[in-house]
Amino acid sequence: MSPEARRQAAAEGDGAPRIERVTDARIPTDLGVFRLHLFEIADDPQDHLALVLGHLGDGEDVLVRVHSACFTGEVLGSRRCDCGEQLAGAMERVAAEGRGAILYLNQEGRGIGLREKLRAYNLQDEGLDTVDANLALGHGADERDYSVAATILRHLGVRSVRLMTNNPAKIDSLEARGIAVRERVPLLVPVTAENAPYLRTKAAKLRHLLGPRAGRSGGEA
Ligand SMILES: [Zn+2]
Repeated sequence: MSPEARRQAAAEGDGAPRIERVTDARIPTDLGVFRLHLFEIADDPQDHLALVLGHLGDGEDVLVRVHSACFTGEVLGSRRCDCGEQLAGAMERVAAEGRGAILYLNQEGRGIGLREKLRAYNLQDEGLDTVDANLALGHGADERDYSVAATILRHLGVRSVRLMTNNPAKIDSLEARGIAVRERVPLLVPVTAENAPYLRTKAAKLRHLLGPRAGRSGGEA
């Protein structure tokens, strides 16, 4: 463990997972010059990333997206889901503000991995929705773990966030781990024939908020 990681672990006290920033690098994009940080976290076989723009300063009210990897949506532009558009939208908002962070968590397919996600797609093509397909394969409806997000945010010095999300589970998870969520910033994508069933299921079964209302508790009423 590096001296920096040891100091961080000590600051977080016992019980918090050990986190180490392995390296970081400059990533120039059409939207601006980001810095990509790569983290290793105790007992987690995956590396996780944070794409940061500007100086996070006092760590208050930082515009943040907690994003889960989606090879099919982001790299291939698959229309089955809205991940590619959500990632691009989050980068655009952070760039417009000149300050913010996008956490990129390696938990493909709501945590079941690419192999099982592709199997779930076949079940969806036979008529199951995205939740029932995962359940039919013996998985939970959503196996993602957002505790790593709070650990990374703390390491970056972030104390409070304006969270770009439609998913109340992410808000609850960050707040339970000591990161204040000051505002929810909706990330809405255009509905198409291909993604409509997926978006409907996320709203109906996974409590996602797909209306335009923003605010700390917007849409929950
Ligand atoms: Zn996706």
